[in-house]
Formats: sequence, C-alpha cells, structure tokens
Amino acid sequence: MDALDTLLLHAAKVELPANRPVVMPIYQAAGWTFDDLDQVDAIYSGQQSGSIYGRNGTPNQRALEGLLAQIHGGDAGLLGASGMSILQAVFLALLGQGSRVVASQDLYGSTLNLLNDLARFGVQTQTVDLANPDQVGQALVGAQLLVAETISNPRLRVPDLARLAGQAQQAGAFLIVDNTFASPYHCRPLELGVDLVMESVTKFINGHSDVMLGGLVGKKDLVDRVRSVAVRGGLVSNPLESWLGLRGAETLAVRMARASSNALLLAQLLQSHPAVRQVHYPGLPQHPDHVTAQSVLQKGWGAMLSFELDPDRSLINRLLRNLRHIRMVLSLGGATTTLSHPATSSHRFLSPAERQQLGLHDGFLRMSVGIEDPNDLQTDLDHALAQI
Ligand SMILES: *Cc1c(COP(=O)(O)O)cnc(C)c1O
Repeated sequence: MDALDTLLLHAAKVELPANRPVVMPIYQAAGWTFDDLDQVDAIYSGQQSGSIYGRNGTPNQRALEGLLAQIHGGDAGLLGASGMSILQAVFLALLGQGSRVVASQDLYGSTLNLLNDLARFGVQTQTVDLANPDQVGQALVGAQLLVAETISNPRLRVPDLARLAGQAQQAGAFLIVDNTFASPYHCRPLELGVDLVMESVTKFINGHSDVMLGGLVGKKDLVDRVRSVAVRGGLVSNPLESWLGLRGAETLAVRMARASSNALLLAQLLQSHPAVRQVHYPGLPQHPDHVTAQSVLQKGWGAMLSFELDPDRSLINRLLRNLRHIRMVLSLGGATTTLSHPATSSHRFLSPAERQQLGLHDGFLRMSVGIEDPNDLQTDLDHALAQI
C-alpha cells in the first residue's frame, strides 16, 4: 500500500460520469495530463480535442469563444481577460513600428489611451470624425487599422459601419469595431463588412456586473494571429470567469429586448421633461444619426442613453440622492438601471476646456437602462427629477 503522502496525492480517482451535466462543469485546471506522446501530438495538431496548459485555453474559454463566434456570424472567436486585453492583443498582433491607426474621436477613453501608449513603439494614431467620409478617406491613406464603435460613449453616435468597411478595404486597412454598447442583439458588424468585432463581455453579454471578460470575433486567420499574441502575453480568460460569462449570455436576448424598450420609454419621458436640456438616444428622430442607426442597429436602439440637465453639481447630487432604484455606477450593461457622470469619471482627467469641447459639462449624465418594470423606472425618474 502507498504511504499516506502518496495516497493524499493520488488515491482520489477522477471519475467522469457516463452522462453529461445539464450545464458545463468548470474546468478549474492550469495543467492537463497526456497518456503518451501520440496524444500530445494529436492535441497540439487539433486532431483530438483537449487542453495543453491554462494559458492556451480551457474548455470553458473555448465554449464561450464558440458561442460568440456563432452569435456574431464569425468563423472564430477569442476570449480575453477583459475588453482592454483583447484590444491590446489586437494592436500588438496587427501593428508595429511605423504603423498608422485611424481612430474615432469619440473612442472609449481607455482605448484611445492604449493607442497613445503605442506611440512609444512607433505607432501613430490619428483621430477623425467618422461622420465625415472625406476626413476618414484622407486619414486612411497608408493606415493599417481603423478603429470605430457601433454606438459611441457618451454621446451615442452611430457611424455608418458599411461605408467605413468599404473605405477601410479600399485603403487596405483592417476595420475593428467595438460593439460593446450595441451587443450582438442589436448589431452584428461582420455582416456589414467589418473585419474584427470586439465586445467587452463585462457589460451586456455577461449582464450581471460580476465578471471581467473581453471577446473578439472575425475570420479564423485574423483571430488566430491575435490569439497567439494573447496566449503568449497571458491576456486570456480564466475558467470561472468564462463559465460565468457563458451563463450570463444565456439571457442576453431577453435582457436586451426589455432594456432597449425601457430605454426608448425613458428617452421619450426625458425628452418631454422641462428640466432636461437635451436627450441623446439613437431611437429619437432628433438624434443626428437616427437615419444611419436604422441600417446599423436592429430590434431597437440599445439600452444606453444620455441626457443633459443644467450644469449644476448640487442639482445632480439632488437627483442622485432622490432616486430609489437607479444608482450611480461607473460601469454599464448590468441588469439594473444605473447612471454615470462622465465629467467626474470617464472624462475626469481631461481639462475643463477639453470636456467643454466634447460637450461634457457637469450636467451631462449617461444611463445604462436595465430590465426593471418600465412603470417603476418612469416613476423613479419622474419623482427624482421633481426634487431637483
Ligand atoms: C468597458 C468598455 C471597454 C473595456 O472593456 P473592459 O472589459 O472594461 O476591459 C471598451 N469599450 C467600451 C465601449 C466599454 O464600455
């Protein structure tokens, strides 16, 4: 009989059941065993399915990668530790000394900062107004990558993705679209000719504010180029987060349907409220991209909306203190309705003049609309607005 030390390590048998559990197990393992060298070869070459090492991808990571690819109509997917880790892997894989990037001037702040970091490695970034085709066309000459967002933060601009895809292709550049605000429920950018789609799975796809994950979908050769950088650089996701993300994704469609119909109702309520200066929501006919959004977005206009009150800090504080259900959270895409204040959070480190230029004064609020009962949300907002 083996000694106690050895028994403790080897006596428990990993018994795989003959039938399958209704949900996928969590494969919480960093290493995998191989029967012999033939199996090593078979798994490395993909002849047999299996895992090599944690960083090369786990069954939980692959399950969500496959789901993301399918719901986006792409032929390969990649899951990373966060949305930003995916963007970092994309930039490292596709850019190098002397590369030029054209980016939307409305880009998510961290994305723009990450691109600016790459200037130290000889990557130049030029920001443009995506609504201006001539400006985009001129900037794209000699560029390798165009970076856009389906719905921008926080002004919720919607660029013509099909036109941008054509312009990028003509210039020989790849187009990557950050689809986080729309989610695959409202937009599948690959169908509009986009090369790569990035999702912060942290937001709507997971949908419960308890996971950090990022996704990438596109053609297999391109995604695999990014995957090898992500694996080397350790930018991949772990089994538990991947499992949670897969569970969250199950309800994406019902959550988005409710959240975007709630958002339209709240946008209309705010639009007619005397205390509200302006509402930014692609579903309102007054929105500058309302017509474009009809061809880019499907099944509604999304769950993000922004609105402007008087630029008065104490007025915003009164609003926040009087809301019962709607809380201030500096993220988005959860099941509950939340508010953020760009001037003191996402755009905090800009100078007042830079914020002014973007129109992000102290009265500008962004709302991520959740799946509560629409009447309760309207009552909550109406009541708090009456107190300001
Ligand atoms: C949150 C977010 C990101 C970054 O994703 P993380 O998962 O936080 O790394 C990128 N783009 C947009 C539009 C986002 O909302």
